[in-house]
Amino acid sequence: MSTLQRRAFVGRRPVYTHSERAAIARETAMTMLKDPNVHLSSPEIQARVDSVHASLVKPLGKELGIRRPTPGIAVIEGGEGAHGASALPNGSIVVHRQVVDLADRIGAAIASSRDEKEMIGNLKDVARGRFVAPAHLDRTRAQEYAKATVAFVIGHEMTHGVRQDGATGQAPIRKGMWGRAKRAAETASDAGGLELATRAGYSPMGQVGWSLYQMVETAVHGRDLDAKQQGSHPTPLARYTFAYRYLDNRKDTSRITNEGGSRQAGEPFFSAAQKSAFASIPSPEAVRKQLKELDRKTP
Ligand SMILES: [Zn+2]
Repeated sequence: MSTLQRRAFVGRRPVYTHSERAAIARETAMTMLKDPNVHLSSPEIQARVDSVHASLVKPLGKELGIRRPTPGIAVIEGGEGAHGASALPNGSIVVHRQVVDLADRIGAAIASSRDEKEMIGNLKDVARGRFVAPAHLDRTRAQEYAKATVAFVIGHEMTHGVRQDGATGQAPIRKGMWGRAKRAAETASDAGGLELATRAGYSPMGQVGWSLYQMVETAVHGRDLDAKQQGSHPTPLARYTFAYRYLDNRKDTSRITNEGGSRQAGEPFFSAAQKSAFASIPSPEAVRKQLKELDRKTP
């Protein structure tokens, strides 16, 4: 039994929640990569993820407290229903191939929506595995959003791997951070992911799409959107609300304070192209209302 497992299961704090145990098991398996159940994804998908990852390394500015870029990233085949990513102890990152597939579907679902209602409806179809991209889909925009979503997820993990734990290169879960501390680290990584992706020029719709999808998925699976925080991450509603407010606070006043990515210091934080996405970002209250309305119509 490894030190990690010993601490997790027979350590000073023997009682862990189900989701904490699941997170330990998942991250342990990923760290090992030798696990017979872990298979690398196709070279094509790996290349797509590599190019997004490379574009994020440059914006690692002094302002973010990031001293070194993440060493590497591996795309693996996740199990049934898996769509996650993890920062490993050496600072490298593992991403499920399903994150990329899901990002493609989320990008198409959002790009083909004409209003909030349609956006939530399309994302519900994605969560139920029955979304079909309509003929009028703007494929360029869908791909732009999908790439931005992958950028946000990778930026989130890069922040875990380097900013939160620069001294040890360890992700929060491996540092033994639980409960409130772990959730605070998640929120900081959400902010870091957005900063990195934005500086590299990706659409804020990347983070919005991902967080929004988590929220819709929660509702589709019949879980309570208003549940109190529990487990290792803030609730999807809390994460979406954070993303929404974070974007809203920055959209008109902030400027890039350190050079990085393709952007220069002093430029507005969001470029005109990035800002064009703001018009279609629904408020958390509107999303919740929409989810409840759709629930009444489609039991
Ligand atoms: Zn995280």
